[in-house]
Amino acid sequence: MSYLATPSRKSRVRTLTSKLAHSVLIYILYRHVVLAMYRHMRARGVGGSLHEVYDYGRQLVVGLLLRLPSSKLKISTELGQARRGVEDKLVPHVLPAGSEYHNALPKEGKTPEWLKEEMHRLLSMEKGDVKEGRVSGAVYHGGADLNKVIMDATSSFVVSNPLHPDVFPGVRKMEAEIVKMCLTLFGNPNGAGTTTSGGTESILMSVKTHRDWARKTKGITNPEIVVPASAHAAFWKAADYFKIKIHVIPVNEKSRKADVARMRRAINPNTIMLVGSAPNFPDGAVDPIFDLGQLAKKYKIGLHVDCCLGSFLMPFLKRQDRNLPNFDFSVDGVTAISCDIHKYGFCPKGSSVIMYRDRELRKYQYYIQPDWSGGVYASPSMAGSRPGSIIAGAYAVMMHMGEDGYARTCEQIVGAARKLKKAIQQDFQDDLYILGDPLVSVIAFSSNTLNIYVVGDLMSKRGWHLNALANPSALHLAVTLLSVSAIDKLLQDLREVIDEVKSNPPDKDGDLVALYGLGQTSVGKPVVPLLAEMFIDTLYMTR
Ligand SMILES: *Cc1c(COP(=O)(O)O)cnc(C)c1O
Repeated sequence: MSYLATPSRKSRVRTLTSKLAHSVLIYILYRHVVLAMYRHMRARGVGGSLHEVYDYGRQLVVGLLLRLPSSKLKISTELGQARRGVEDKLVPHVLPAGSEYHNALPKEGKTPEWLKEEMHRLLSMEKGDVKEGRVSGAVYHGGADLNKVIMDATSSFVVSNPLHPDVFPGVRKMEAEIVKMCLTLFGNPNGAGTTTSGGTESILMSVKTHRDWARKTKGITNPEIVVPASAHAAFWKAADYFKIKIHVIPVNEKSRKADVARMRRAINPNTIMLVGSAPNFPDGAVDPIFDLGQLAKKYKIGLHVDCCLGSFLMPFLKRQDRNLPNFDFSVDGVTAISCDIHKYGFCPKGSSVIMYRDRELRKYQYYIQPDWSGGVYASPSMAGSRPGSIIAGAYAVMMHMGEDGYARTCEQIVGAARKLKKAIQQDFQDDLYILGDPLVSVIAFSSNTLNIYVVGDLMSKRGWHLNALANPSALHLAVTLLSVSAIDKLLQDLREVIDEVKSNPPDKDGDLVALYGLGQTSVGKPVVPLLAEMFIDTLYMTR
């Protein structure tokens, strides 16, 4: 009997195992393929999903075509031409008299006199466009008085490092107070935060913090975030670095604001956070933070408000303009806010603050390695050693500006932006239209009748550095304190340029037309990243 029973028990076990394997397989298939696909499609809607499939197919075909030897040759010839153009612009053959390219340390050290002259020569390579207020964003104050405040403070702390608070207690005090002052300004004096090196790091930290919080408290191992298409590129970067799925939801075409109903459809049990901007970078719209907060609360997920650009304009504008919707920690559901004090806080570049609702959440940002052979290692953000001098510079600026200073500059900047908006709406209504209804400092405009990139190229010939936007094609100006007094000149140049485009369009493509035109064709699209790589390569080139 036992002889007979053995194979049948064995085979029973075998069937059971294979049945089990079968259900496990189906479960895995369901979890990782069907469910993931369903959630993906739900977030994008039917039209969006079909479009994605179509786009994918098209890219596949173009990719194959580009692999043909003849296209390869054509692309490399064209890339080579573009490369020479970029190199000649960024790494000029002719330097100011007395300057040269250095590819190794000088045999003997240079004197302070030589350095002074060399700095002078290097500065002379810059164009005057920044000082004349013709650059969108980039330099947010630039006043000689404030520069002196920054230099005096930084020079006292050039060698300091907040990684060693016992050695530099003054730097620790300044950093803690910078964060606290921001928390108070954004309606959460009992919250928590840290300084970072800039808006991108603030956003990277917030995404990582919410990821680790969701893993610990909700067991989410395949995290996803939901962002409006107008969110800053740093959220894509964070998703890429930290292996998080990103759902990009188109904004309302007319208002340019986040589409809350569509964002809601993208939320699923893997969602860790939503994003809203106040305002966004492309067209300056402020997202409906209150509604996003309601969603975040309902689904018990995070809500990051990107106030990197809004920085100190938003809190002071709120005091001056009651129509501005709430955007800070006074809104239920907001769990994190990033604020770039190096933008409209006028602090030295390399300073930003990331704030959280409470201290518990901030803990997920820390990195701690208790077993390192170099000792217990603990750091609050991405960097290890950090420049205390930047913190001293930022602290000095904030103390020097004070509430009265920021209220005044806010009025000037927003006033100039609204003047620009009104002038475009009234005096350019036949040629241009404003994107959305911008309330803060960024004014984006496009055209139904003209190629807006041609306008941008001709403006840049006149020394204006406007930002080019894609989807839809547009230009924007982020008004800074420097550009406040340049608005009239901007409008005058814009009028002349538009008349020129209409009567006598240029026969040669400028940079914007070339680059953005390329991105709009199927064959050109895959070439854009190659151009961007080449551009970054060039930054590290000497001769
Ligand atoms: C500038 C900006 C950022 C990122 O800031 P960096 O300081 O350049 O890293 C993020 N979000 C918005 C809306 C911005 O304008």
